[in-house]
Amino acid sequence: MHGTVLYGPRDVRFEEREDPKIVEPTDAILRLPATCVCGSDLWPYRGLQPIDSPTPMGHEYCGFVEEVGSAVRNIKPGQFVVGSFAASDNVCPHCQYGYQSSCEKREWMLRAQAPYLRVPLASGTLVPAPDLPSADLVPSLLATSDVLGTGWFAADAANVKPGGTVAVVGDGAEGLLGILSAKQMGAERIIAMSRHEPRQKLAREFGATDIVTERGADGVARIRDLTKGVGADSVLECVGTQEAMMQAIQATRPGGSVGYVGVPHKVDLDGAQLFFSHVRLHGGPAPVRRYLPHLIGLVLNGKINPGKVFDLVLPLNQVAEAYKAMDERRAIKALLRP
Ligand SMILES: [Zn+2]
Repeated sequence: MHGTVLYGPRDVRFEEREDPKIVEPTDAILRLPATCVCGSDLWPYRGLQPIDSPTPMGHEYCGFVEEVGSAVRNIKPGQFVVGSFAASDNVCPHCQYGYQSSCEKREWMLRAQAPYLRVPLASGTLVPAPDLPSADLVPSLLATSDVLGTGWFAADAANVKPGGTVAVVGDGAEGLLGILSAKQMGAERIIAMSRHEPRQKLAREFGATDIVTERGADGVARIRDLTKGVGADSVLECVGTQEAMMQAIQATRPGGSVGYVGVPHKVDLDGAQLFFSHVRLHGGPAPVRRYLPHLIGLVLNGKINPGKVFDLVLPLNQVAEAYKAMDERRAIKALLRP
C-alpha cells in the first residue's frame, strides 16, 4: 500500500510502504474508509516541531476490522470501530480513572494517513459501533477519534455546566468542536474568538452566541465587557501558544476553569500571575477513549454532526495538498479518501 510520510518542513510524500500486519496478539488491522489531517500535524509540517527522520503521519482513524490477533476478545472482523490517537489497554489504574491517554501501556498512534492501519491493544483501544454506519456518517465518526474527543475534553476539563458562560480560544477544528461540546453540555453563552468569517459561521452553527475578533489583551478586555467585567466560567484553550494560554487564563473569572488541549509550544506560565488569577487549570492529551462510546452514540442518533469541520475532501494520494491547504488556512480540516 501507499502511506503518508513527512520528510521535513513542507515535504509530505505519499509513498510505497509495507502493508500493516498483526505483530502482537493484541493487535487489529483496520481498513480505513477515510482519514484526515490534524491541526497538530501542522507543527512538524511547519518545522516548529523538528523530526529526526522520515515520519509516517496520521493518528485519527475509524474503519472496518479486517483481522485481529489471537488475544483480541471483544473486537471482530467486519465490525466498524473508532479508536483514539493514544492506544490504551483500558484496564490499568490510569485507564480506570478515565485517563486512557496516560495508560501505563500507552502507544501514540502514527501511520493512519493510509488505507490500512495496525492498532495495538485493540481490545482496550477500539470501540465498535453497534451496526455498520451509513457512509454519510463516516466523517462525523472519524471526527470523534480526535478532534471532537479533544474538544469535548477541553469543555469537560473547563468544567462547562448547564447555564454557564464559556469562551473558546482558537477557531481551528478543535476550537469549533469545543463549541459544539459546550453547547451539548448545556452552556448558555458561548463566546468564540475568531477573526475568520467562514469559521465564525460554523462557530455559530455549532452553538456560539458571541464572536470576539480581537486577540491578546484586547480580546481579554472584550470578553470582560461581554461578561459585565467578571470573566467566563469556563475557557477552552485550543491553540497551544503563549498568547492563547494567557488569553485563556485572563479571560476566566476567579474560581473559573481553563481546559487546555492545544499542544504547548514555548508556553511559560508565571507562578505569581497564576497564583493571583485564582483559576483552575486542567488539560493535556485528551483521554478520548473515555468519551468515545458517548460521542459515537450522539453521532449515530443524529444529535451532532461534527463532520461539518471537514470543508475539504481529497483523494488520499493528494495528501500533500491537504497539508498545504490547512497550513495556508484555506481549509479548516481536510478529509482524505483512500
Ligand atoms: Zn491503561
